[in-house]
Amino acid sequence: MQYIGCHLSTTGGYRKTVRTAQQIGANTFAFFTRNPRGSKAKPEDPEDIAAALSMLKQEGFGPLVAHGSYTMNLCTADGEARKFAAEILADDLRRMASLPGNFYNFHPGSHVGQGTEVGITQIADALKAAMAPDYPVTVLLETMAGKGSEIGGNFHQIRAILDAVGREDLGVCLDTCHVWDAGYDIVENLNACLQEFDAVIGLNRLKALHLNDSLNVRGSHKDRHAKIGQGHLGVESFRAVVNHPALKGKPMILETPNELPGYAAEIALLRSLEEH
Ligand code: FE
Ligand code: FE
Ligand code: ZN
Repeated sequence: MQYIGCHLSTTGGYRKTVRTAQQIGANTFAFFTRNPRGSKAKPEDPEDIAAALSMLKQEGFGPLVAHGSYTMNLCTADGEARKFAAEILADDLRRMASLPGNFYNFHPGSHVGQGTEVGITQIADALKAAMAPDYPVTVLLETMAGKGSEIGGNFHQIRAILDAVGREDLGVCLDTCHVWDAGYDIVENLNACLQEFDAVIGLNRLKALHLNDSLNVRGSHKDRHAKIGQGHLGVESFRAVVNHPALKGKPMILETPNELPGYAAEIALLRSLEEH
């Protein structure tokens, strides 16, 4: 059985979130480390975290996949804003250290006219400054749709960030909507896409997936998520994803436009596609 879940709010505490996940059939989940469109982070509750960690273990959950704020742009052209983003990243990673063994994923950033090379250097510099040696959480770069000046819209840019950081413990989260919008044909040939991922990045770096259908055609560079089966990817693409041997055991997170009942239905659908 794969680790499948969705984005959940942790405002009621982690313990409550684990229970909610179980109620909708999830055995992993994602959460925003702070307001997704802002920068405010909630205070930590060590007791809640300790209880949640033991629940996760006991209930057989896969790694959680925290998500950094969408507004955190590590390669914005404005020096002050860039410094602030780097501080947000450092603060997020400090907080995430209380959830060892789990994942922290973020959008690499948009270079806003500075150029890809400059952007990649700035992202790598922020990561090098924020990641302590022996950091207990795996940090993940998300594959992006290549919207606007987004970095990470192809596997080579992700590879360039990994090279610039030079740490073996930096991983990647593959978003099905984003790679499709970026131009990779995961509908006709998931295998070829994963082979290219392996050749350029290395499958050993692939730690988690975001499962989203796409409202747009391949290569559109749009990044608009659709419910599973209601976009250009279609249900059969997700059957291939949940059953691909190279993706076994990697947490798969839905980021589809749904409330809890919709997520519960999509998790059930994905589980029904799994071949045992
Ligand atoms: Fe994302
Ligand atoms: Fe995503
Ligand atoms: Zn997206």
